[in-house]
Amino acid sequence: MPSLLLIALLAAAAAVIVWLHGRRGRVLEACCRRCGYLVTGLPTNICPECGSNLAGGGTLQQGQRRPLSPIQRILIWSLLLPLPAVVITLRAEPFAPRLSTTYESLSLTLPHSRNYSEVMIGAYREGYGSWRQFKFMEVSFTKESSNGRLVVTVFMVNVHGANYWYVLTPNVNSAFQASVDLVSVSKCMEGAGIDTGNSAVRREAAAVVETMLSAQAGKPLAARVEGFEGTSLTTGTAMSGRPAWVFWSALVFWLIVWLIGAAILRATSPSRGARRQR
Ligand SMILES: [Zn+2]
Repeated sequence: MPSLLLIALLAAAAAVIVWLHGRRGRVLEACCRRCGYLVTGLPTNICPECGSNLAGGGTLQQGQRRPLSPIQRILIWSLLLPLPAVVITLRAEPFAPRLSTTYESLSLTLPHSRNYSEVMIGAYREGYGSWRQFKFMEVSFTKESSNGRLVVTVFMVNVHGANYWYVLTPNVNSAFQASVDLVSVSKCMEGAGIDTGNSAVRREAAAVVETMLSAQAGKPLAARVEGFEGTSLTTGTAMSGRPAWVFWSALVFWLIVWLIGAAILRATSPSRGARRQR
C-alpha cells in the first residue's frame, strides 16, 4: 500500500528530527533553558537575554540535553501519529457498519388486458443490518410491437419516500415529473402506446400503483398482483459497502486525538513553562 509507505516515511522524518536534535549535543555550561544564554555567576534569577525565570527548571545544567521546543514536539507528534492512526483505523474498519442496498424485483406477466407483455417493479431499500429504508423504485412497462420491443421506464429520482418521479418514455421523448398515482402511471402507459381506455388496463394500472405505494411505504412487494397471471419475485443485494460517514468520523476522531496530544505537548513543554514564569 503506497500510502502506508508514505506514512512510514513521515514517521522516519520524525526520527530524523530527534536524531538531528540529539546531535546538537549536551550543554557544556549552565545556560537559560529557553534562549541558551550562559547563566553561570548571574546575580539574579531572571535571564538578562530573554527575561525568563531561571529558578526551578528554567536553567539547563552542564551535561543536560537541550529540550525540544514546543514546535518541534508538536511537529514530531504530527509526523508520528498518522502511522498508528492508519493501522488502528484499518484494523477497526471491519467492525464499522456496512450500508447495503437491497432490491426486490417483481415481474408481472400475462395481463388480462393483453396490452403489454411485462410490467417490472423494482423497489430498492438501503440500510444497516436488518434495518432498511425505502430508497427508490423503478417501474418499466414493456410491450411487444411489430417492430420489436417497446419499453417505457419510470425512474424515481428523489429518494426516501419523496413523491417525485422522473419519467422517460421513448414515444414522449421527454422527461417529466410525476407522482405515484393512476393518472401518472396511465400517462406512462400512453407514452408506450398502451391503450388506457381499456377498463382492464385501468384495473391493472390501479393494482400496479397500489403495489408501488405499498413498496414506498416500506412493505415488501406482494407476491401476487391483481390482473396478472404470471408473477415472479426476485430479491438480492445491489450494493454493499462502508458509508462515507465512517471515513469522516475516523478522520474527526484522529484530528481530536492530534489536538489533545498537541495541547498536552504544548502545556508540558519545559521551555513553555519557563516562558510562563516571565
Ligand atoms: Zn534566556
